[in-house]
Amino acid sequence: MTHAEILSTNGFTEVDLTGGSLAVRSPIDGATVAHVHETTAGDMGTVIARSQEAFRAWRTVPAPRRGELVRLLGEELRAAKDDLGALVTLEAGKITSEGLGEVQEMIDICDFAVGLSRQLYGLNIASERPGHRMMESWHPMGPVGVISAFNFPVAVWSWNTALALVCGNPVIWKPSEKTPLTAMACQKILARALARFGNAPEGLHQLVIGGPDVGEALVSSKDVPIISATGSTRMGSVVGPKVAARWGRPILELGGNNAMIVAPSADLDMAVRAIVFSAVGTAGQRCTSLRRLIVHDSIRETLVEQLKAAYASLPIGDPRQEGTLIGPLVDEAARDRMQAQLNKARTEGGTVHGGESVTDGVPGGAYVRPALVEMPEQTETVREETFAPILYVLGYETLDDAIALQNDVPQGLSSCIFTLNLLEAETFLSAAGSDCGIANVNIGPSGAEIGGAFGGEKETGGGRESGSDAWKGYMRRQTNTINYSAELPLAQGVKFDI
Ligand code: NAD
Repeated sequence: MTHAEILSTNGFTEVDLTGGSLAVRSPIDGATVAHVHETTAGDMGTVIARSQEAFRAWRTVPAPRRGELVRLLGEELRAAKDDLGALVTLEAGKITSEGLGEVQEMIDICDFAVGLSRQLYGLNIASERPGHRMMESWHPMGPVGVISAFNFPVAVWSWNTALALVCGNPVIWKPSEKTPLTAMACQKILARALARFGNAPEGLHQLVIGGPDVGEALVSSKDVPIISATGSTRMGSVVGPKVAARWGRPILELGGNNAMIVAPSADLDMAVRAIVFSAVGTAGQRCTSLRRLIVHDSIRETLVEQLKAAYASLPIGDPRQEGTLIGPLVDEAARDRMQAQLNKARTEGGTVHGGESVTDGVPGGAYVRPALVEMPEQTETVREETFAPILYVLGYETLDDAIALQNDVPQGLSSCIFTLNLLEAETFLSAAGSDCGIANVNIGPSGAEIGGAFGGEKETGGGRESGSDAWKGYMRRQTNTINYSAELPLAQGVKFDI
């Protein structure tokens, strides 16, 4: 399909796509496909006030009824899957299967959140006082500001929004300035669900378009109690302290520097498949992309040779074409950053295989051959996240050394080990093992399912989204003590007779 056809099947009109100040370009060929209107910083006061008003109504709607809206959203997403997936490909450059996979993830989280809408459980707690009962209640918090990155332009919104809505909160979404069209398409899809739902408050979900200054208005407003921000560690280092300074709740999902340890007992064929998908999938532009391979010295040479062979045959090019596995980087600047990091790695003693620009891809796009870089040690360059398909290879002698190397980076998102040795696998998962939010065995670090809580430690920000009990991050906990006796005993036996 052409760009125009994809935009049209997603319901875009001339008015949506023209006359605005924000140019949107497709990574596929660099073509400018729209000029969309930006929200001004001056508009943000009205947006936030509308969200507060929606909150006052939405918080009193029973949670299972709120779940019904998310169920309808899931239905609308099912119907729109092919169109929205194609738009993700157009705007973020993902291959077709990954664009569709991203929409499937949205459907999955909707299903999860619908069930959750009947399971926002609090505890009953034993009281030390006779005739007393204690319990915990979970209440809505207020507007959730969602700031998202370009590389998961729609899934991250759905993780936050499906949960926020069932938890009784309105949402204000500021997508990446590189991907406003997918966000506008989601807003249209949600509008269809809202129309079927019937009586949701206006302003329950609002989309604001623009760059960091628009995000900043959310970040600094006391009327937006939760800020869920996904993006670079640089962005999180600005946003996190600002939200904390005004006593808001930040949910930070920042950069990763994810590693795989390959032990001598590993099934190497399986490891190679996992490595290639994790390192080059989405052209290395996933927060969970594999960036460091820590291989036992006894198998290092063999594995590197197998990887070089696998890398040589990878189809790179137009992400819309069947068979392509590596699409473009998001833009030229990303390609320049990749080249600069490869040059730095060379000066640090690295041997680079691949990494060149691919000139026979679609003209106008930033296509690259993924790079394998053999490093003598874990240098400064290796310790940084470069958002491109660069895989650094390091050797190790003992598992303790491997785990120490893996943990010795500022980020703490995803990690994994390939081993058939139970003791090694359990050590890796133990308190003395991986320090990441995600730790896997015999599976790569990327491609998480929505059932688990997603997020990481250290400079990854500590936030958790998606499954498990991540919903608690979107609600406030209230401890209740109820006295059903005719006495008024004090806790800890304190006497205070009047
Ligand atoms: P980015 O940090 O450049 O931008 C992310 C978002 O933050 C954008 O919407 C941007 O406008 C906004 N922003 C930037 N500065 C801001 C400020 N001062 N105040 C308010 N908003 C601000 O990131 P990117 O290039 O779009 O995405 C790539 C990065 O995102 C990588 O580091 C990747 O690892 C990370 N990421 C993390 C996760 C995760 O779940 N941990 C998921 C996806 C991407």
